[in-house]
Amino acid sequence: MNKIEHIGIAVKSLDASNELFSKLFNKPHYKMETVESEGVKTSFFKVGENKIELLEATHKDSPIAKFIAKKGEGIHHMAFDVDDIWSEIQRLKKEGFKVLNETPKQGADNKLVAFLHPKSSNGVLIELCQEIKE
Ligand code: ZN
Repeated sequence: MNKIEHIGIAVKSLDASNELFSKLFNKPHYKMETVESEGVKTSFFKVGENKIELLEATHKDSPIAKFIAKKGEGIHHMAFDVDDIWSEIQRLKKEGFKVLNETPKQGADNKLVAFLHPKSSNGVLIELCQEIKE
């Protein structure tokens, strides 16, 4: 794994949180993107070299809606940049992590992504991200 690619924060209202985080970082978000397959609408902020992803549910069965119902708004996942997501998935499976997506899927921001179940990583939902090269 390389660096932290971004930190994902679950929010009830992307509009309200875009405003809040714009004030916090003193700059606006640089993109918004809906990932229909995941039931999320996202927005991204850059803070120096770091990225923050805000996630709002697009429907009540979205994983984000379920997360907020259970735990409230807050940090939802940490994403790590990897060079080869396919081999990392196999490596982590062998190490005993519970991989939720054996086949990576299209995520926001031009990435292939796969998640590890928080139960196998001390309660932290981990996202692996590999940049899709054109
Ligand atoms: Zn993410």
